[in-house]
Amino acid sequence: MDMAPDATTTDPRDKVLEIHHRLCRVYGCPIGYFHGHDPMSELVSSLLSHRTRNADSGAAFEALRARFPDWSGVAAAPVAEVQAAISRATWPEQKAPRILAILQAILAERGELSLDFLGEMPVEAARAWLERLPGIGPKTSAAVLSFSTLRRAALPVDSHHHRVAIRTGLIPATLAVGPSHRVLAAQLPPDWDAQRLYDNHEVLMLHGQRCCSYLAPACGRCPLLDLCPSGQERREHPAATPRS
Ligand code: SF4
Repeated sequence: MDMAPDATTTDPRDKVLEIHHRLCRVYGCPIGYFHGHDPMSELVSSLLSHRTRNADSGAAFEALRARFPDWSGVAAAPVAEVQAAISRATWPEQKAPRILAILQAILAERGELSLDFLGEMPVEAARAWLERLPGIGPKTSAAVLSFSTLRRAALPVDSHHHRVAIRTGLIPATLAVGPSHRVLAAQLPPDWDAQRLYDNHEVLMLHGQRCCSYLAPACGRCPLLDLCPSGQERREHPAATPRS
């Protein structure tokens, strides 16, 4: 069990652990996995979820599965049919050709539409393989490895996670979501398993959704206030605090 450090510490590795422990107490770790997709399905699900409400991306995923017998059927379909099937997702006209390009790239390299082989690779090599696919970045590569039935130790960072990390001072405001993946993962103990990394992502994401929202962070009821430079600044100078 990790020891919770003194809250006044300035070591970022101690601070990130203190934030993790406090948020785990609030949101209840270990947190159950929300998906049981195989990695190929998780990849498509992740692509559909970009800037889309969970209910709509889930409906688009189910419609795609119902319309075609398997991923090979999707890969061989006209783009208009795929676009129609995923119409509940945002920007189906962009996502349909992107999904087809990715499926065809996997078929060309592997000869089948399965990503189960990633479970036999070291995590960093598996992420690098995924990130060579067209349009796949660190968030999607981490999501495929972490959220799918592979249950690998990879840390995704979504916009809520990223916002809380900036406001609490774990990363600078100038660090974009993509490069923040490596920085935030490096702050966590290297021996953390898949569940702990998943928990870390989930509690920061949930905190961003339920307390540290973009427009109106509820600093007055936040368990991180004494650790959070942005929250203390907002409390002292509410009218002058920029959004971030
Ligand atoms: S104190 Fe405010 S800004 Fe900081 S994490 Fe909490 S809600 Fe967000």
